[in-house]
Amino acid sequence: MKRTVFDQDHEAFRGTCRAFVDRYLRPNQEKHIANHEFGREMWLEMGRHDLLGLNIPEAYGGSGIDDPRFCLVFAEELSKLAFAYSACVGIHADCVAPYLVDLCTEEQKQRWLPRFCTGELVTAIGMTEPSGGSDLAALRTTAVRDGDDWVLNGSKTFITNGCSADLVVVAARTSPEKKSHGITLFAVEAGMPGFERGRKLDKVGQAEADTSELFFSDVRVPAGNVIGEVDSGFVYMMQRLVTERIGAAVQNLAHARQILDETLEYVKERRAFGQPVGSFQANKFRLAELVTSCEVAQAFVDACVLEQVAHTLSPVDAAKAKWWTAQVQNEVLDACVQLYGGYGYMTEYRVARAWQDARVAKIWAGSNEIMKELIGRDLGL
Ligand SMILES: Cc1cc2nc3c(=O)[nH]c(=O)nc-3n(C[C@H](O)[C@H](O)[C@H](O)COP(=O)(O)OP(=O)(O)OC[C@H]3O[C@@H](n4cnc5c(N)ncnc54)[C@H](O)[C@@H]3O)c2cc1C
Repeated sequence: MKRTVFDQDHEAFRGTCRAFVDRYLRPNQEKHIANHEFGREMWLEMGRHDLLGLNIPEAYGGSGIDDPRFCLVFAEELSKLAFAYSACVGIHADCVAPYLVDLCTEEQKQRWLPRFCTGELVTAIGMTEPSGGSDLAALRTTAVRDGDDWVLNGSKTFITNGCSADLVVVAARTSPEKKSHGITLFAVEAGMPGFERGRKLDKVGQAEADTSELFFSDVRVPAGNVIGEVDSGFVYMMQRLVTERIGAAVQNLAHARQILDETLEYVKERRAFGQPVGSFQANKFRLAELVTSCEVAQAFVDACVLEQVAHTLSPVDAAKAKWWTAQVQNEVLDACVQLYGGYGYMTEYRVARAWQDARVAKIWAGSNEIMKELIGRDLGL
């Protein structure tokens, strides 16, 4: 089915994104996998190609585009190469950007945004802690006011861009008695004494992504690094998770559809019992189901994207899009592995890596269970 969510300008931009992916990321992917990150040079290259500040006002070095579809086009093209690229870039350019643009003071914006756009200042967001990620209101990292500073203690885990980030938006408890209304966001910067990174975590998939633990031991964060109002962090996160979740849904489908298209080519070539494996009715029907599944999901997600453009996307619809596409993606990729046979289990095959990469989509940015919890509550249950 023809998608109508993007116009000619978006498609022209897609060409730029594809050219970037083909020239800079694809040839270096094996190196990125070995290094467990794609490295600063790639961030700077994205900055040189104006790909990091699409939604940042021009006054701070961005492109000032008030249309999230451009970021989503870039995310789709990154996902098609590997899910890890869209995850890392998405955290910086789609997830953290709104915190800095919407909530920061003029002085903070001048301080951070120009380098954010060039890739000199890579960002991350630290919500999840070793004690739990789903129950965000129960986080244990604390920040206590001391003169002009706040003193941070605690830790975060599973943080995308964790090792490479120059600035991490960290959620910490500032008013213990106020539960979800006692959380504040801080910009913790590389080099602050007491701020340490753990090792790059060894994940099941997404080897190109730097994911790590962060430790805060009496880190003195100046009051000038508080993001937004004290004790308002939880609300800020809830508001912005909508953007993160629709972004995740878009990436889930782009990733699944790319590997499905590659699998379709494979099953036309690969033969068994004297015929292409795709021509067996069982496989033909399976592929028909998978294509239908992707296209039906895409229609819902594209409708959500248009709602997002109009600033009317509800948290519940974003939750539906996120969990459903994570499910579809995992079903599609598992079936693709099956259709590749033994080759599908070899990590040198893209399908195997994609299958490993996708598993986390049902866990991160709010697990499928948490998404259903939100939807269930909306049903009055
Ligand atoms: C590769 C990767 C990258 C990540 N990047 C980031 C990042 O950049 N920043 C960040 O802050 N976090 C990040 N995360 C963390 C991620 O968001 C959390 O892992 C996720 O929110 C789940 O939290 P948890 O792992 O603590 O699981 P838990 O909260 O311990 O949950 C365990 C299980 O219990 C289920 N569960 C929990 N509560 C309920 C409930 N009420 N009803 C039913 N089931 C429930 C969950 O769905 C899950 O299946 C990342 C995680 C991974 C794996």
